[in-house]
Amino acid sequence: MSNFISSLFLILKKKSYLILLLVLSMPIIGACNIINREESNVASKPFVLTTFTVLADMARNVAGNRLTVKSVTKPGAEIHGYQFTPSDIIRAKGASIIIENGLGLESWISRFTISAGNVPRFVLSEGMEPLLIEGDVYAGKPNPHAWMSPKRAISYVDRLVEAFVKIDPSGKSYYLKNAKNYKEKLEALDKELSDSLALVPLNKRVLVSCEGAFTYLAHDYGMDEEYLWPVNSESQVTPRRMTNLISKIKEKSVPTIFCESTVSSKAQKEVAKASGAKFGGIFYVDSLSDSNGPAPTLLEMQRHNVRLIIKGLSQ
Ligand SMILES: [Zn+2]
Repeated sequence: MSNFISSLFLILKKKSYLILLLVLSMPIIGACNIINREESNVASKPFVLTTFTVLADMARNVAGNRLTVKSVTKPGAEIHGYQFTPSDIIRAKGASIIIENGLGLESWISRFTISAGNVPRFVLSEGMEPLLIEGDVYAGKPNPHAWMSPKRAISYVDRLVEAFVKIDPSGKSYYLKNAKNYKEKLEALDKELSDSLALVPLNKRVLVSCEGAFTYLAHDYGMDEEYLWPVNSESQVTPRRMTNLISKIKEKSVPTIFCESTVSSKAQKEVAKASGAKFGGIFYVDSLSDSNGPAPTLLEMQRHNVRLIIKGLSQ
């Protein structure tokens, strides 16, 4: 009898565990349903992939809520020689188009699009007259950082409309309206940068960075540019490049020099020490910051960089 009672007790105990398990798992099942519903909403929109975060921000401004936009590289990633991962390829599956900068920026893009199942590519800088890299081993090649001048970024917006109309023709008027609004913001930024940089004394308008990524900004806003290396690559810091930059900084009496968020600033800090210039902080160029950082959008990125430039060069 006692055996019977203890087995009954065990069965009841097991059942109560089952009930408890069911009750506890209900919120999880509910949450999964919500996630699935959200995923299916996202999945119902065409999906656009950009090569880096700056282009993703620009694309979102034009895409509005008709398209899902994702970036292959994450905030802070080095984008020129990016080593893509199997999970990047998995995330690219189902993309309608991949938006790239071009001008030799993304050295990995052909391998990536083939691995991702031959996603059609769209080059934003196509048709643009590029500025060329002067000197060093890259001399004569196009400088890829055209988005760094708001004047050029405006033409990227027109190209984004072309790309989106290809994959979603019925959204044309919607994309044109978004593009018009965004271009107005870039035009306002253009004026803001011109007015702000005009505050830097003429003899101090020399912008010194790690990578030669400010060629378009310097060209369009009346500044000179010097850099530690022309394009981010594997062997970018050399004693010769450091010595050259130190003598240019001394020769032009540059008060402050800078470096970018996607590379090490160690060598540039040594250049600052050796040349007597101050190190003025970190620019955002090839990547936005995350949403809590100083450069979560292209517009904020430009304002952050220009604030550093004015602070560093107006002393
Ligand atoms: Zn770069």
